[in-house]
Amino acid sequence: MTTENRTAIVTGAAQGIGHGIAERLAQDGLAVTLADLPGNQAALEKAAAEITAAGGKCGIAAADVSSATDVDRLVEEHVAAFGGIDVMVANAGIAVTALFEDTTVEIIDRTMAINVRGVFNCYKAAATRMIKQGRGGRLIAAGSVSAHKGGEWQCAYVASKFAVRGFNQTVALELAKHGITANIYSPGVIKTPMWDSIDEIVTTKEGKPRGSQWDKMLPNIPLGRTGTPQDVARVVSFLASENAAYVTGQSIVVDGGIYMV
Ligand code: NAD
Repeated sequence: MTTENRTAIVTGAAQGIGHGIAERLAQDGLAVTLADLPGNQAALEKAAAEITAAGGKCGIAAADVSSATDVDRLVEEHVAAFGGIDVMVANAGIAVTALFEDTTVEIIDRTMAINVRGVFNCYKAAATRMIKQGRGGRLIAAGSVSAHKGGEWQCAYVASKFAVRGFNQTVALELAKHGITANIYSPGVIKTPMWDSIDEIVTTKEGKPRGSQWDKMLPNIPLGRTGTPQDVARVVSFLASENAAYVTGQSIVVDGGIYMV
């Protein structure tokens, strides 16, 4: 297929990194379905209108990635609208910020249901369709530097992202024979609503000024700045492109040099 008629689904596309990825893949010429929770449809409509105004091709969908039924329907509707699926970006995720002593079974289960089962549901539904199509495909998921090293305040999140990295490696091995690659992008400190909430929770608990947790990260970033959704989207653009045809099973860290693999 040419770039013009390749297609992609991006989950968690209403804001933050997912929004940036959807915009970028549409600029690259892919037809994109922007998916997010049912409560975020207004933000998706706004994002889709901007993409369309810029000459891109896209649609929107409501899907909770922790539900296999929702994700199967998402892929079916995407294929019905655009004729096939070439790229699945399983971006949606949550970060519950809590010290280990405050982390509950419910936090662990909710984090795993969205961050791990959600990626499983997205890979499974997309790969099933890609194998049927017989033209290969790209499975891409959100990892994190937390897929490589532990971090305070984030034990459930870190566990979920390590799981995503291991899961992705295994899928890459099993689906290589179908010409399907599987890679994760692993951001460091990216300015999104997720990071705003991490900052709010940590600074409230420690009685420090809002923004100070965010500021604390800066001296640890060799490239001297925090990241943007566009920094991550450029890497996803590469992973989705023909240039990444010989790359699979990888975690590409996008963090300004904090964690060197
Ligand atoms: P965000 O919280 O700003 O946006 C996440 C989006 O996912 C939201 O629109 C939300 O509605 C959606 N979402 C949440 N649960 C969902 C569900 N069950 N089904 C469908 N959609 C759901 O987060 P972000 O910072 O843009 O992060 C995107 C991804 O990148 C996440 O997987 C996150 O773990 C990862 N990541 C982010 C950073 C960072 O610094 N921001 C760093 C490393 C990894």
